[in-house]
This record gives sequence, C-alpha cells and structure tokens, in this order.
Amino acid sequence: MNRPMNIVIAGGGTAGWMAANYFVNKWPSDKVNVTLVESPDIGIIGVGEGSTPTLKRFFEELKIKERDWMPKCNATYKVSIRFNDWSPGSGVKQYRHPFISQTDTFTQRAFEVNCRTRRLGLDSHVNPEDFLLNGVLAKQNKAPLTPENFPFRMEYGYHFDSALLGNYLRDVAVERSVTHVSAVISDVALHASGDISHLVTDRGNIEGDFFVDCTGFSSTLLQQALGVKFNSYSDNLFNDSAVVLPTHAQENIQVETQSTALSNGWCWSIPLQNRTGNGYVYSASHLAKDKAEEELRRHLGLENSDVEARHLKMKVGQVEQHWHKNCLALGLSQGFIEPLEATALHLVQICIEYFSDMFEKGAFSSVERVSYNAFAKARFDRVRDYIVAHYKLNTRNDSDYWRDNRNNLVLSDSLKSIISTWFNREDLGNEIKRQNIGMHWDSVSWHCLFAGYGAFPALAQNQPGRGDLYIEQNIERFNQGCALNFEHHNAVLLAQQHGE
Ligand SMILES: Cc1cc2nc3c(=O)[nH]c(=O)nc-3n(C[C@H](O)[C@H](O)[C@H](O)COP(=O)(O)OP(=O)(O)OC[C@H]3O[C@@H](n4cnc5c(N)ncnc54)[C@H](O)[C@@H]3O)c2cc1C
Repeated sequence: MNRPMNIVIAGGGTAGWMAANYFVNKWPSDKVNVTLVESPDIGIIGVGEGSTPTLKRFFEELKIKERDWMPKCNATYKVSIRFNDWSPGSGVKQYRHPFISQTDTFTQRAFEVNCRTRRLGLDSHVNPEDFLLNGVLAKQNKAPLTPENFPFRMEYGYHFDSALLGNYLRDVAVERSVTHVSAVISDVALHASGDISHLVTDRGNIEGDFFVDCTGFSSTLLQQALGVKFNSYSDNLFNDSAVVLPTHAQENIQVETQSTALSNGWCWSIPLQNRTGNGYVYSASHLAKDKAEEELRRHLGLENSDVEARHLKMKVGQVEQHWHKNCLALGLSQGFIEPLEATALHLVQICIEYFSDMFEKGAFSSVERVSYNAFAKARFDRVRDYIVAHYKLNTRNDSDYWRDNRNNLVLSDSLKSIISTWFNREDLGNEIKRQNIGMHWDSVSWHCLFAGYGAFPALAQNQPGRGDLYIEQNIERFNQGCALNFEHHNAVLLAQQHGE
C-alpha cells in the first residue's frame, strides 16, 4: 500500500481514546491515519475508575506527565486494594493486596517462606501488607512517589474520573492528529470477502482499511456486524449487575481501593480528589435490583439521601475471536471480567500493545491474527481465574450467593491445579512456572490472595512456639525505614494541583 493505512476506531470511551493515542504515538502519519468516530448521544459507560500499575507505563510511553493529567481527572494514587469481610470464617477481617514493587524482592521470599511454614501447619506471620512496601504505604496513607535518592522503582496505579480521563485523552489525541468525528453509526457495510468496508453514519460513510470496535457492550462491529460469538463466564462468575452511588471526597484521601463483601456481592470504594465513587457489584439472580440499592445505601449511610443511584448490567465473558477479518475489538466490546481487581483497562492496554506489535510485525496484514487471538484469550481466561479464586475461597455463610460461589465446581484446570498445589503444600512458584502464567498474576499475588483469606491447611496440634521469625527480624525495620522516604498522599496531591 503506497498511501497510509486508514484505521477507524468506533467508540470514544476510555478504550477508544487509549487506542487512538497509542496508535498515533507508535506510527507516523505517513504510515497510519487514525480516525475515531463516536456518538456523544449514546455516551460512555462512565464507570471504571481504578487501574493497575500498567497504566503508568501507558502515560510514560505517551510522554504525558502525572502533573498534567492527574489534577484534570481528579486522580489519586493507588498502591493496593483492601479486601474487607471476604473471609470471616477464617478469622480474617481484612487484608491488603498491594502492588508489588522492586523493594519487595528483599522481603517477598520471607513472606513466601512464612506462608510455606503456615501451610505445613506451624503458626507464622503471613499478613501480606507487613511484607510488601505498598502495604505499609497504604496503612500510612502515603503516596508512592520516590524521592531522587531512593534507588528503587515503585509500582502503583491510579484512581480517576473516567469521563474526565476520556475527555483528556481525546484532547491529547486530537492535538496529535487523530481525526475525531461525532456521529451515530447506524450500519456496518461489508465487502464480499466479509471484511468491513465502511461505517454508515448520520454524517456520511466512513471508510477504512482496518476497524477497531470500541463501542462498549453493544459491540456494533465485531459481535453485531461480523457475528463473532460471545462466550459468557456466567457459570463461574455470577455477578452481572452493579448499582453506583457517589459520596463526598474523603478528608484524608486513601491511597487504595476498598472492596467490601456485602450480602450478595461486593462494594468498591474509590477515592477521587472531589468525590468517592462507590458501587455494589452483585448477582441479579441472587438479589433484586431495589434490594441491592437499599443495601448499598445502608452500607454508605445514604438511606435518607436523595442522590440518585445508577443501575448497570454487565456482560461478563469474552468474544471467541478478539481480531476477526479486518476488525479488532477492544474494551467492553471484546469482553469484561467484572471490576474486582480493576483489570479491564489493564487488559485494554496490553491488548493494544500486543496487537500493535503483531500488526506491525505482519506488515499490517492479518498474518499474526491467530497468535494475537491466542494471546488475548489466554489473558482473559487467566485473569478470570484469579478473580474466580476470590469467590471460591470465601468463607461467608450469610447467603446462598456466598455458599453457591464456594461450592461451585466449574473451575478451569489451571485454577484447580493452583488451589490443589497450595493445599497440598507443594511449591506454588514452580506450579506457576510450569503453567507459564506468571505474566498474569505472579507467585506473590497468589500468596497474597491465599494468605489474605487465611486459606491454609489446618494448624498442627503441637506448635513449637511463635513462628513469626521473619517479621520480627529485619523486615519491619526495612519497610518502615523505606516508608520514611514518602510523603502523605494529600500533601502530594495538593502540591501537584499547584503544578509542583
Ligand atoms: C460496574 C463496572 C465497574 C468497572 N470498574 C472498572 C475499574 O475499576 N477499572 C477498570 O479498569 N475498568 C472498570 N470497568 C470497565 C471500564 O468501565 C471499561 O473497560 C472502560 O470504561 C472502557 O469502556 P469502553 O471504552 O470499552 O466502552 P464505553 O465507555 O461504553 O464506550 C463506548 C463508546 O462507543 C460509542 N458508541 C457505541 N455505539 C455507538 C454507535 N452506534 N455510534 C457511535 N458511537 C457509538 C459510545 O458513544 C462510546 O463513546 C468497569 C465496568 C463496569 C461495568
């Protein structure tokens, strides 16, 4: 092709604008032209306000500084997720799953050895947040920014207003030469080959060589026009609904998401600079919509408030092929694994990155389609497994929902093997290596989950004394010492607002 390739992105939610920015950043305009078409009348989903640390890499690659985008999106730092009330049966009220940072290479072995000791039946210190630096920062409410003389790289994510982030990414993309069209797509026209030829809109036809479906759950291009099948995860992830209600901003803005188990699901609490986002994710076949709203209001102390709640349906699963013909689906149109652990934008990002590499490697043809589809499918399945484990391991007894989750035997072979390795006291790190799944969730994250739930074989009757050897030695001193280098979250956000 002598002329530049025309890539048309349908949909201007976070997925669409992330893709647009990534493409214009990666490919010069004499190679690729990017057009994004979206309808403000249809709007975006408007939730999805927590990220994993990969988003940091996204902004770094785009050369967008935190002090530029964060204040404009009411964004805050995120170093951990705090899980409340997921496993009361094992005596654990709450635990943290901190993002793993470079300093943790000094302490994670002790954490894993203590977990191994505990799996063998001897009592030992296994609270993840005491071993991993981001857990300590979360407890002290400190921002994860490193002073220049701190020689380790910290990993962290963000909380942000998704609508504002979309607007911000749109402005950057348009400035960097993405063509933005506001129009409603009413039809998708195909060539005889089955490839998409153009989008029919109320502003005329939009032709392209390659199309990216970012139209959200409706998946107007990939699922509707090209008929790609959607495979639901409903047999092992029961949640299909959410109800959302904001509360005031926190006085001391937390540096972590809270995820609190409720009667038939769980509630997120995401601290932004100007408000706190909250949402109850639940299973509609276990709890009626109005009861869910009532319970969320009670949980937030909003019984008498007239703030209106938003109700959403979620389509949980993934498409059979993420790239079919000349169309790639990204974001909710390719699939969704419910918001626990906030993995959706993470999947969007790694799919954009891998697709771009494969597309370029195949000289902008479809030769790498099969390997890309295998990559995307595995990513979704393995992330799904980690989320499923949160439900499988619960020890709540207050509803059928929790018992059904615990008793559910529909698990992948991969997850079954992880769980049996743990309870059979075998080497979890080796099992993760054997399955080659460390790129999805590594050994430490799995240890956090099992240990956080207090999910261990029974304690031995004869205990030789307290087995908390490791934490009593140098780890606490090390982490507390490291934490002295970090500033309080509010102070950092304030400085950032003043352009510092
Ligand atoms: C309850 C819930 C909580 C979530 N929490 C998180 C979280 O904490 N972290 C996380 O990473 N993700 C989360 N997600 C997922 C996250 O919201 C999405 O991955 C993200 O917002 C990307 O959405 P999207 O761009 O794919 O779709 P959308 O935001 O729905 O955007 C779709 C776009 O397509 C356009 N469009 C659709 N049809 C047409 C048409 N016919 N013509 C023209 N334009 C059209 C719309 O105008 C819109 O611009 C959550 C999702 C849900 C449901």
